[in-house]
Amino acid sequence: MNSSVNYPVISVDEVIRPTRVEVDLKILAENFRTIKKHVAPAKVMPVLKANAYGHGLVRVALLMEELEADYLGVAVLEEGILLRQKGIKIPILVLGGIWGNQIPIFIKHDLSITASSIEKLKQIDELSAQLKKKARVHLKIDTGMERLGVHYYHAEKFFEATLSCKHIIIDGVYSHFANSDDRDFSFAKLQLERFNEALSFFEKHSLPTPTRHMANSGAILQMPEANLDIVRPGIMLYGVYPSQEVKYTVKVSPALTWKSLVVYFKVIKAGNSVGYGMTWKPDHDIRAVTIPVGYGDGYLRAMSNKAEVSIHGKRYPVIGRISMDQIVVNIEKDSAYNGDEVTLIGVNGNNSITVEELADWAGTIPYEILTNINTRVPRVYKR
Ligand SMILES: *Cc1c(COP(=O)(O)O)cnc(C)c1O
Repeated sequence: MNSSVNYPVISVDEVIRPTRVEVDLKILAENFRTIKKHVAPAKVMPVLKANAYGHGLVRVALLMEELEADYLGVAVLEEGILLRQKGIKIPILVLGGIWGNQIPIFIKHDLSITASSIEKLKQIDELSAQLKKKARVHLKIDTGMERLGVHYYHAEKFFEATLSCKHIIIDGVYSHFANSDDRDFSFAKLQLERFNEALSFFEKHSLPTPTRHMANSGAILQMPEANLDIVRPGIMLYGVYPSQEVKYTVKVSPALTWKSLVVYFKVIKAGNSVGYGMTWKPDHDIRAVTIPVGYGDGYLRAMSNKAEVSIHGKRYPVIGRISMDQIVVNIEKDSAYNGDEVTLIGVNGNNSITVEELADWAGTIPYEILTNINTRVPRVYKR
């Protein structure tokens, strides 16, 4: 009967999950400047594919534009369109392949197209003529990745074909390394030789060489001779190294912290199992807390019974299987209360949990850990 109960009014914007990713924009900016200085006079194309390696595509792009990045790299057309819709003006190269009738959409949004065959190049030229708007094109040469592009040993015909394309702008020519982050990167050196050899076509014919680019994070760290005109850093922009074997010649710091809060505390009695599949049980009474994060957020199930989290600067093990939305953590005899902060990735007091550790626990690479933190986890930005 009483309809005058006053519930506190909170807007949808204020409802934020206890589980969240914090991105430090100052660190991201520092990483960008460090890379830019290291590779100068080469330009920098920050690679923002897969939601900017989990850091949030649009916010990272806005920051990169503010820092006067010369280009942006994304993987798929939709990522490029979203950036244009959010007002990003700098050149954006879509690194992936094109198919079907995507070309007019590229042209409409002024997104640079990767041309990976003569046939596609001609298609782009014809559509540009029809639409009376010049497409921007980067030519892709395959020097040993066997993924996308014209083989280096057929590059001459590809380059010749560009000469009869009158309606497009050749904005660049590029290739991609297969193992530039290995301790032994001799194959990467061979790839670079193949690329340079293919590019000699332009000099031979007294033609201007298009803007050349090849270096990913591994090459930026280990092969300064591969900087060419632009470099394409992905993972190192976010402060993570592409592998543990690579030479750490450039100092970058992780920009991402993944946190949650304790939402439940209980005692688990000796002999009672925890979670699906009953994979873990204590032989004595323990204290445990429940954290609202799971594989549905990208906290990979493969880390079950291996992962650790940090609470009050101390590490504790995740026990039992990781569920879709929750994990249970063994704090033994210690105390933790509802609302206490839990660090999943990042620095907590004297303790830090790294993306590399999560990758080891899951049997994967840091790239996959970062790009799997899905959009259910809100991103919060720090300046
Ligand atoms: C992903 C990607 C990069 C960036 O690679 P990192 O190893 O993250 O630096 C560069 N170029 C291309 C073509 C890519 O697909």
